[in-house]
Amino acid sequence: MAFDFARHPDDILGQLAQWRAADAPTHGGRILAYVFDTGLPELDDLVARATQAMLPVNGLDPAAFTSVAHLERAVVGFVRDLLHGDADTVGAATTGGTESNLLAVKTARDLWRDAHPGGGQPRLVLPVTGHGTFRKAAQYFGLTVDLVPVNADGSVDAAEVAARLGDDVALVVASAESYPFGIMDPVADIAAAAAEAGIPCHVDACMGGLTLPFWPAGSDIPTFDFRLPGVTSVAVDLHKFGFAPKGISVLLQRGRDRQRRQFFACGGWAGYPLVNATMLGSKSAMALAAGWAVIQALGRAGFVTLTARVARAVAGLRAAIEGIEGLAVFGAPLGPMLAATADLGVAPDRRVDPHHWADALRPLGWTIQMQPGLTQANGVHLPSTAHLTATPVTEGRLPELVPALVQAADTVRGRPPVDGAALWKSLVSGDATVSGSLAVARAALRSHGPRPHGADSRDASTLDSESAWALLAAFGLAARDDAAIPGQQAPMLALIEAVPEAVAERLLIEKLARLAEP
Ligand SMILES: *Cc1c(COP(=O)(O)O)cnc(C)c1O
Repeated sequence: MAFDFARHPDDILGQLAQWRAADAPTHGGRILAYVFDTGLPELDDLVARATQAMLPVNGLDPAAFTSVAHLERAVVGFVRDLLHGDADTVGAATTGGTESNLLAVKTARDLWRDAHPGGGQPRLVLPVTGHGTFRKAAQYFGLTVDLVPVNADGSVDAAEVAARLGDDVALVVASAESYPFGIMDPVADIAAAAAEAGIPCHVDACMGGLTLPFWPAGSDIPTFDFRLPGVTSVAVDLHKFGFAPKGISVLLQRGRDRQRRQFFACGGWAGYPLVNATMLGSKSAMALAAGWAVIQALGRAGFVTLTARVARAVAGLRAAIEGIEGLAVFGAPLGPMLAATADLGVAPDRRVDPHHWADALRPLGWTIQMQPGLTQANGVHLPSTAHLTATPVTEGRLPELVPALVQAADTVRGRPPVDGAALWKSLVSGDATVSGSLAVARAALRSHGPRPHGADSRDASTLDSESAWALLAAFGLAARDDAAIPGQQAPMLALIEAVPEAVAERLLIEKLARLAEP
């Protein structure tokens, strides 16, 4: 019996293709964040076919779908061997770095609760440069984040971390390497201090886990994995330098009994006996299969070859940035990422603001990620930067990319950064007359000055949707931008940097929520 479909597949897929065409380009190395392109079409084809093969499967139950168990064993085994886990090191496939980090925190919280029957709120010790997912974990799971300020060059002092350790600390985090600046934390010293205090140490190796072990010989890569006795868990993303499609990461944990606290089981409801290793129930096994297929196809030798391309690309980017008057590489990055900042060693009229630079690069066909500056609790300021992640395909693009980096810098050299504080002040202290929702928003926010004074603002999270939207509109940020090349982003970043943290967060939430509204 013929089925009466509402719309023809060609028409549906045509619409999809049209929307996709406006996306940032996922292949060809034109975007230096988000996507990880090997530049190997054969591998892309393999990934597509492995994904397709697993399309109808439910990863919820590896007993019903035994392929899922085979895949998980193979992928966890590969990462465990690479990071020198022993037979007591176990792991699980998660959907990404976020879930791996969330589960590491949840595991540690539950172990802490076991050991502290008297209750209380545990602390999570986290360098400022540690990934935002840990703050999310703390918020979800009820821990207090104890932020450890980093040095002015973005590096972390192990002694500063060690000084925070105490009986109420459930977990210490070290990054190999941290996302914002691509800087390696002193994992060995942090893990040793944690072990001495009897506190678990989680290593966020979402980026470094599949690059640093393959980094070209001769570079000095500090040990960050299970060879360090104090390391109790490690997160590694396969959907980054494992070149799998989004939705696959591995969380390794030292010790079965530790790892079992990651799980959830429920025998006391009316339905099927429920047991999950990770946060989701029904889930895709497509990215897991694709990640496994990539590992099979590349082998360790393939990873070495691709990582050598990444290393040459990042060296090329570094040399290019160092050669541009007014720009500098921030700190001492290691691995596939780095961040560029304005060179304070030259006069202001010769400096290149990294956000104007990123905005000037976009019309030339290149996208890099802007990161706001940040004044830490101890007063040490981290400058605003532009983040670049090199992938294997970047190396071949350097002959076009480097001249673009130079040209964009020439366009904006000497232009001062957007003054977010002035924007904020003009709005909130109110020279302009405003009405309606904006007036409400302004009244609610009157009490807050620019950072850091207003950093604790409470009212901002209760700012209603209309007021938050009115504020975004007042800053010219309320447009739903469907164009492939979005407008200037520097003002948005300047605002995030300048306004009280809670207000910035409320505005980010409103901006994203409105994007998805029908
Ligand atoms: C990407 C990343 C994360 C977050 O992972 P998602 O895969 O985006 O959920 C966490 N930590 C580091 C170091 C990362 O690079």
